[in-house]
Amino acid sequence: MSALLLNLHPGDEVIVPSYTFVSTASAFALFGAKPVFVDSDRLTLNIDPVLVEAAITPRTRAICVVHYGGIACDMEALLDIAARHNLVLIEDNAHGLFAKYNGRPLGTFGSLATQSFHETKNITCGEGGALIINDATLIERAEILREKGTDRSKFLRGQVDKYTWVEIGSSWVMSDLLAAILFGQLQRADMINAQRVAIWDRYDAELASWADRHGVTRPHVPAGCEHVGHVYHLRFNTGEQRARFIDHMKQHGVSCVFHYQPLHVSPVGRRFGGFPGQCPVSEHAGDCLVRLPLFNSLSAEDQSRVIDSATSFIP
Ligand SMILES: *Cc1c(COP(=O)(O)O)cnc(C)c1O
Repeated sequence: MSALLLNLHPGDEVIVPSYTFVSTASAFALFGAKPVFVDSDRLTLNIDPVLVEAAITPRTRAICVVHYGGIACDMEALLDIAARHNLVLIEDNAHGLFAKYNGRPLGTFGSLATQSFHETKNITCGEGGALIINDATLIERAEILREKGTDRSKFLRGQVDKYTWVEIGSSWVMSDLLAAILFGQLQRADMINAQRVAIWDRYDAELASWADRHGVTRPHVPAGCEHVGHVYHLRFNTGEQRARFIDHMKQHGVSCVFHYQPLHVSPVGRRFGGFPGQCPVSEHAGDCLVRLPLFNSLSAEDQSRVIDSATSFIP
């Protein structure tokens, strides 16, 4: 819906991070735009504002940022770039619902922000999502697009006496059954996020000395960022170390998984001009990052096992 609301034309470019899930880029490519991949900041793995500005061309229409792990991007710099170049800023906030940047919730900075309620996210209904619209001029058309291109929303409010086909849209309404599950999750959101943050904090405190001793990189939370404990990750120096770590954890009965494969070197990314070496930070994270188990019902005993297993590993 973000892509449709932008009225993208073939040849238009949308700047996206390479280190993200496929959907961030695919959504725009689906409607004819070219995703332009930009590397991430080494500390946060969030899109690097300096590289964003360097990637802007006369064809750039929008910048879509991802708050990796729910830790905010440098929104001050990104908002400034978007304003100076007259570009739409979109937040892919799949990781960061209720997280904050300088006290303000993520998803309220961009003209548009997207949420995911996929089963892997903090707040979930299995599959689902939401579009947050901060630019009021886009609301009326968004309502039409999500209702199969009809003005049914106006009809339901009694503003028209029948509804009809007024635009080319699709069916993006959530079913009532899923909405009921999501409602329960939202009512418990503070509790769910607090439990996740407590688990995240414990990992960070108890792995610090082991990680520092062995040159393993822990997540970085810049000042002003209040996150929601979406991902706890470690970065090794080589892919070989990561593979041995995953294997070591498996032998201790702990399942650890890596995360994104950078989009710029994927088969589709290469069709859009991506090439190896273009985004070195993303490529390193693709090879060397691993996530530890993190879910709100993870018990203290189980977490101790994860920590003991991890700290018995020598890279
Ligand atoms: C999960 C995720 C998505 C996709 O969410 P869906 O609900 O599957 O559409 C998009 N972007 C990021 C960064 C994600 O983590």
